Order: sequence, then structure tokens, then C-alpha cells
Amino acid sequence: MSASPLAPRLAGIIACPACRGDVREDGESLQCTQCEQTFEMQNGVPVFLTGGAEVATEHSSNAIGPHFEEMLKEGKDFILHIGAGGSPQRFPNCVEFEHKIFRHTDVVGDAHQLPFREGVFDCVFALNVFEHLKDPKVAANEIFRVLKPGGSVAIHTAFLQSLHEEPHHYYNATEFGVREWFSSFRIDAVNVTGNFGPGVMLAFLMSNVLAAAQAGGATWPEQLRLSDTTIGEWAEFWAGRGEQPPGFQTLQSLPLEDQKRIAAGFEMIARKPAATA
Ligand SMILES: [Zn+2]
Repeated sequence: MSASPLAPRLAGIIACPACRGDVREDGESLQCTQCEQTFEMQNGVPVFLTGGAEVATEHSSNAIGPHFEEMLKEGKDFILHIGAGGSPQRFPNCVEFEHKIFRHTDVVGDAHQLPFREGVFDCVFALNVFEHLKDPKVAANEIFRVLKPGGSVAIHTAFLQSLHEEPHHYYNATEFGVREWFSSFRIDAVNVTGNFGPGVMLAFLMSNVLAAAQAGGATWPEQLRLSDTTIGEWAEFWAGRGEQPPGFQTLQSLPLEDQKRIAAGFEMIARKPAATA
């Protein structure tokens, strides 16, 4: 049996996510030479998460778009693809990083503690990942660390999107929030790509508004009245020139959990824990 579990292209770039020490192969697992933490291989994939990784080899992800696909095909850059999911094709110049084991996943770990050495990648992709991270700024700084000087990063992240993949949907960022996360970088552009255009926003949000009305117990006639309203009616109402559109009260009185999927914001009440004896 081979005593070399790690794919050759990973050998020179992996580092301990806890202390960033070198990692050596130890039989069928990996061990940090510095803090001695061990990491298991699962389905031939190094897993830098405690408790192992879920296997999701059947799952297929959405296309990443022609621009990023072209970069992968060109093979010029050594790319770290964070959140690659179930990619359609494996590329030799791309390391697919995930929190589960998908079809072509190379490394499983946490984007807040990348298990890679400093300055090894030409480029990092993280598409539809950042809204799902508990601390986006920490992850952005990790990307900064593993990039070569002059290396580039491309992210796609949510702004006016309703709740998805809950509970692991933490942030919807404005452009200025995204710029703040990546303030260590020189930002070349913040674009709106076709997958995030205002038309897509309306389609996504309206679909979720109707779904919430249905899930929240609105009657079929109430759902129909809501569905038949126009964007103009809502805009006129907001501007103070029109009546409440049909369905307004239906939405305003949905059960809390259904409102939370499509609300404009949240009120939070919290308390400092009482002192313990
Ligand atoms: Zn270590």
C-alpha cells in the first residue's frame, strides 16, 4: 500500500491550518511537524476539519461563467477555487477547496483558516461563498496570505438576495461592505455580472415573496391577489402616492419565520449574561 496519500501537486503547498507549520505524510494521514496535530485523509482527500467531512459526490454546481472557465482552461495561473462545489471538470492547475467532499474536491477545510502556505496561488476564486462565512474579513485576509504578490482574487457575493442555505447565510453585503472586507487589496473593480443583474434580483426576490406567502398560510385568493400586483403599485405606495397594494397586509402579518426569509431588516434584543457566582 502506498505510504504517500497526498496528491503530488498538493505536497508543496499544504500547511497546517492551526499553526501554518509544515505538514508531513504519516502513513495514511497527515501530521503537522510543528503542533503535531493530525489530519485524516478521506476518499483520498485531506480533511482539515474536525469531525470529518460529508461526502456529496452526486451534487453538481451551477456553471461559474465563461470568464472563469476560460482561465481554468488556459492553465496559465495556479488557481485556488474556494467553494468549487461539484464542478463539471477537473483542471490540473486548479485546487478545489470545499467543506464537503464533492466530485473533484482536492482539499477540505475552513475558509477562515486556509491549509495552504503563504504566497502559493496566482489567483483565488470564491463564488457565492462570502455570504456564507461567519467572518468574511478573516477569510479575505487568508486569501491575501495565500496569494502570490500581484496575485488576483475574484468573488461573487450576495446583496439583495433573500435567505438561502440557512442557517449558513450570514451576510448580505453592499458594495462598500465588500470593499471593506477586501481593504488589504488593491480593488480593480466592483461589477454587477449578469447573474446578479437587477432583473435577476427582482425575479429571485419576488419568487421568494410568493413562496413565503404560501408557506406562511396565505389563502389561495390572497396569493393570487398578491401575485397580480404590479411593481408600479408598490413603488407608488412607497412614494406616498398610492394605497397599500393588495397583499400588503398578507405579507406584513405572515408568521415571523416566514417574514424572516424576506424581511427588510431585523430587530435584535440581547442581554449581557448575569454575573456568575
Ligand atoms: Zn500545526
